[in-house]
Amino acid sequence: MKAKSTVQGLPVYQPGKPLEEVKREFGLTEVIKLASNENPFGCSERVWQSLLEERENLALYPEGQAPELRAQLANHLGIEEGRFVFGNGSDEIIQMIARAYLEPGTESVMAKITFPRYDTQVRIEGSRPVTVPLVDGTHDLEAMAAAVNEKTRIVWLCNPNNPTGTYFSEAALRQFLDRIPPQVLVVVDEAYYEYVVAEDYPDTLAFAQSDPRLLVLRTFSKIYGLASFRIGYAIADPAIVMELERVREPFNANRLAQRAALAALGDQGFVQLCKQANRQCMQQIESQLEQWGLSWFPSQANFIMLDTGRSSDEVFQGLLQRGIIVRAGSALGYPTTIRVTVGRPEQNRLFLEGLAACLDKPSSIV
Ligand SMILES: *Cc1c(COP(=O)(O)O)cnc(C)c1O
Repeated sequence: MKAKSTVQGLPVYQPGKPLEEVKREFGLTEVIKLASNENPFGCSERVWQSLLEERENLALYPEGQAPELRAQLANHLGIEEGRFVFGNGSDEIIQMIARAYLEPGTESVMAKITFPRYDTQVRIEGSRPVTVPLVDGTHDLEAMAAAVNEKTRIVWLCNPNNPTGTYFSEAALRQFLDRIPPQVLVVVDEAYYEYVVAEDYPDTLAFAQSDPRLLVLRTFSKIYGLASFRIGYAIADPAIVMELERVREPFNANRLAQRAALAALGDQGFVQLCKQANRQCMQQIESQLEQWGLSWFPSQANFIMLDTGRSSDEVFQGLLQRGIIVRAGSALGYPTTIRVTVGRPEQNRLFLEGLAACLDKPSSIV
């Protein structure tokens, strides 16, 4: 049977290798996964209790509008409740945006090396992705604005960018928006927002409050440590929210996910600890890379993309044999780099020892 033409030949998403699979394949008992930017510290302890409280309701559909979570988030972020849309992960919201706004004959502008789901969802809708190369691993907002034409419906911005971890500033965003026509939707994916420490990082939510072209994506999968639950959200102009509601699956954000997210949101102490630990642990990795003379993209997220100077596939395999799962840059458009999630200190030590062995570096591990 023939799939529709836009689906034919589309790549299948390649997730980070699962822990269980690597254990089986290499006969290892200890494996660490630093491949999918999950929170190495898990999630708030409050989450488990909140799930127990929900156990009587497992047979019931969730409330599609996630009213409790919506109210708490609105309060936490200082944004009106009517500006939120929830999704089965922010991945699903990317799909909903493409579904609602794209069709054949339209175009979408995105960075050449960025989160791959924008490209895939654009193609499925028969729209054309227009890619703009990164400069030093960073979005080239000037070139992206120049790529906008009368066919453009969406510009996808990832800030900090996955897989490079780099960011663009508030001033850069402001200049960019000055050049974008009113009918173009600007999606800013801020999956790593809570990890950012740069002072000139944009307050995109403040922009979005007064600029109906902006849609901001956030998620509970990263610093909140709830990747398995699948819950993320968008903040946008109420008119855009209404269109997304038309294409949203009625029960997309499930009951346990809503409950878990609510509990996690309530524990900002955990979020702050993770943010601080991430910066310290990133320093731990970077000082070793510096000693070895390796280079990396400066990261505002919870991962680092570093240049190994060798084939990334070989380094990836070498680390895998030692029970360490990372992402090979070859699959991401940078053939000599790897992307590693910043782990707990002992995980980072093992990673650095493994990397030293793969690259024949002295392992004077910090
Ligand atoms: C992880 C990630 C997402 C997906 O988040 P989910 O909410 O788990 O679907 C979206 N965008 C970027 C850039 C990511 O890295």
